[in-house]
Amino acid sequence: MPSSAPSSARTTPALEITDLVKRYPNGTEALKGVSLEIADGEFFGLLGPNGAGKSTLIHCSTGLAGPTSGDIRVFGHNAVSDYRAAREAVGLAPQELNIDWFLTVEETLDFHGGYFGMTKQDRKERVDELLESFSLTEKRNDRTRELSGGMKRRLILARALMHRPRLLILDEPTAGVDVELRLELWHYVRQVNLEGTTILLTTHYLEEAEQLCSRIAFINGGEIVDQGSSAELAERFGVGSLEDAYLELVGRKELSRAHVGTEEEAEA
Ligand code: ADP
Repeated sequence: MPSSAPSSARTTPALEITDLVKRYPNGTEALKGVSLEIADGEFFGLLGPNGAGKSTLIHCSTGLAGPTSGDIRVFGHNAVSDYRAAREAVGLAPQELNIDWFLTVEETLDFHGGYFGMTKQDRKERVDELLESFSLTEKRNDRTRELSGGMKRRLILARALMHRPRLLILDEPTAGVDVELRLELWHYVRQVNLEGTTILLTTHYLEEAEQLCSRIAFINGGEIVDQGSSAELAERFGVGSLEDAYLELVGRKELSRAHVGTEEEAEA
């Protein structure tokens, strides 16, 4: 079951985005006034078709792209004026396997900790802890290029968590991976969330969002068009599943699997 967000007392949100506009130099308006709030401890999903603005939103939240206007706060730290504190609060697991293939597993984690100013002793303890959590202890001295696909993905997760960020951003973590590895990664990210880390997940897989996320936002054409739990979204769109709600959103409801049986029966 997806974990639910702490509700009663209002704590500082993990991510608070207000009226965010991002216009690229070529004139493309990738985000057209997005507002979004993710509570501390939530497992939040961001779903939308290609070109919807998901990467742009992640890049603005991690300081990789500057917003044109609007406000982004990570645990209360302004992502532009208080960049360092905001950046330290975020761990980013990018979609591409951007690992240095000449380093060992341990060096990969240790260098990341060094970049974030962790002391040698602290880095050592954190590396041991993460290698254990991600079942990589026996691989600590192996070169990253020798790892299996699953181990590489696990290493990317461990690296993103090395400096103990309170918000973990997962950018399509299971794109193109096989079923076993997808289920294995779900197990690890669920565990990370249960231990208290807030997660923002972007994915193309509706089942993934349904399984993992307590709340989901649909983004389309640079705007958040709806948000809620998977069941709430399906109900609001007047359909039976998150997938059908998504198809309504992207204007392709004729693809709904709910119609397939009916059409076949009608033709028979
Ligand atoms: P998604 O991650 O949902 O696929 P993106 O954030 O990558 O969406 O893209 C949103 C829009 O912004 C698209 O129209 C895309 O072509 C455009 N875009 C993305 N990056 C750039 C860039 N560096 N320069 C100009 N346009 C961009």
